[in-house]
Amino acid sequence: MIRTDPTMLVYDATEMPWTIGYGGKPEDDYAVITSPHKERAICNLEPRDFKLENARLICAAPPLLKVAQKLLLWMEECMPACDFNQDDIDLYHELRQTIRTAGGFSSETHWWQGPCICDACGHAWQGVVEIPVEATGPRVPLECSECHQMRGGPA
Ligand SMILES: [Zn+2]
Repeated sequence: MIRTDPTMLVYDATEMPWTIGYGGKPEDDYAVITSPHKERAICNLEPRDFKLENARLICAAPPLLKVAQKLLLWMEECMPACDFNQDDIDLYHELRQTIRTAGGFSSETHWWQGPCICDACGHAWQGVVEIPVEATGPRVPLECSECHQMRGGPA
């Protein structure tokens, strides 16, 4: 089963909420995006690129990302019990890559699949894990599906 690495769900962006600061009316030709957690604007939209729709979308991005992350983890919970068809699986991968892109993760990864064994309890299973493109196998210990310790790895 695919399990998202929790470290890819942590972001270092300015805290929400983001709001449209001065400017930001349809007749204005500029706006700033502000956060109560930062003194200066976190984003300036200059006359050339200013569109109110863009400003709204930027302000909505942090909560959209949080919801997308929750949805991704929920999909991973459902996968073993649900009969996902190819469209569902494609949607899952699209969602996952969009979240990765938002977090600055490269799309240069691929999947490793093979027999795994747990050092702690000896449980063996067929593992599927995302690895960097330059890797030939998992680089971090895998969670054992039996004892749930991070002691699994390629057999
Ligand atoms: Zn184990």
